[in-house]
Amino acid sequence: MPRPAKMKIDLTALRHNCALISQVAPQSQIVAVIKANAYGHGSIKIAEALQGYISLLAVSCVEEAMLLRHEDIKTPILLLEGCFEASELLCASQNNMEVVFHNQQQIDDLLSKQLPKPIRAWLKVDSGMHRLGLKLDEAQDCYRQLKNSKNVKDSIILMTQIASADDLGNAHTQRQLADFHQLHQTLEKEFGDKIETSIGNSATIMGWETGSSDWIRPGIMLYGVSPLAESLPLAEKLEPVMTLKSEIIALRDVPKGDKVGYGSTWEAEKPSVIATVAIGYGDGYPRNARSGTPVLVNGQRAYVAGRVSMDMLSIDVTHISGVKVGDEVILWGKGLDINEIAQWANTIGHELMTRMPMRVPKSYC
Ligand SMILES: *Cc1c(COP(=O)(O)O)cnc(C)c1O
Repeated sequence: MPRPAKMKIDLTALRHNCALISQVAPQSQIVAVIKANAYGHGSIKIAEALQGYISLLAVSCVEEAMLLRHEDIKTPILLLEGCFEASELLCASQNNMEVVFHNQQQIDDLLSKQLPKPIRAWLKVDSGMHRLGLKLDEAQDCYRQLKNSKNVKDSIILMTQIASADDLGNAHTQRQLADFHQLHQTLEKEFGDKIETSIGNSATIMGWETGSSDWIRPGIMLYGVSPLAESLPLAEKLEPVMTLKSEIIALRDVPKGDKVGYGSTWEAEKPSVIATVAIGYGDGYPRNARSGTPVLVNGQRAYVAGRVSMDMLSIDVTHISGVKVGDEVILWGKGLDINEIAQWANTIGHELMTRMPMRVPKSYC
């Protein structure tokens, strides 16, 4: 029998989530964010499964986009950080990519070229997150430069990113949105253009009606995970795409007072049954998941006992009867929200799914 640690990737759930997003934002077009190997789900399979459901994919860079082109994915692809050097513009133009421009250098690079086909430009402004984007007072000049370039298609999209959209009602978010909308109006007036906008990541889409825009950019929610702590009705309807599972490969009775695992950090407070599961931090399960982190054994909750090893972890199954070697253990996914595990490990669901290593085989259904 092969090692049982594996990921199930549910493409029906993916399409369900995508349809749900269309329902809540019927006026918006969806840019499906599949950077970082589709958050660990496998970008090629995810891109294939989304064909016909969305009009635009998004990745971080040309290299990620070319992986998809080599697999014959024809959907247009947006480069979220734009080109890292001028030579990439030619590749973008030849391969049906749309390009973010977040600084003057990228615009200068574009103006210095003669591209075989014009590209669609996304002008990214910094409305207050202070990570990427042009200053609000530079935007008008940059918009003009792009608009006057033969290398740029007619419609330039104005985009921004919100820093704290997961905090509902946050005043900084209100300010970011107000400043962005103000800039948008100014540009439309100045240039007499109808300018499309793009604001929302998942948290903005789910938490901020005022953050709606022509193009929304869901990432984590496509994969069925909410970025918000609140249990909103929409969050309840999302279905997790990734389920991480393995099996029990050993079982033992541990007497009261004995300890389990590296560093002997967990102690049996009563006679206990400890199961060893074939999955560890070498499989993307976080080593800093503390004792008490839940797992599902035959649909019931059991708890991590002691430190997670590279290939294995121990769980306390004292309270569950009939547990045997070979029983399935779910680490996150269907029935166990990855955000709950992330909290026990002091991180977020985004990170846990994105850093899944190649060692864990994926099966798609
Ligand atoms: C990654 C990313 C997103 C998607 O974020 P989620 O929180 O996963 O929805 C949206 N927009 C930009 C610019 C991004 O880099």
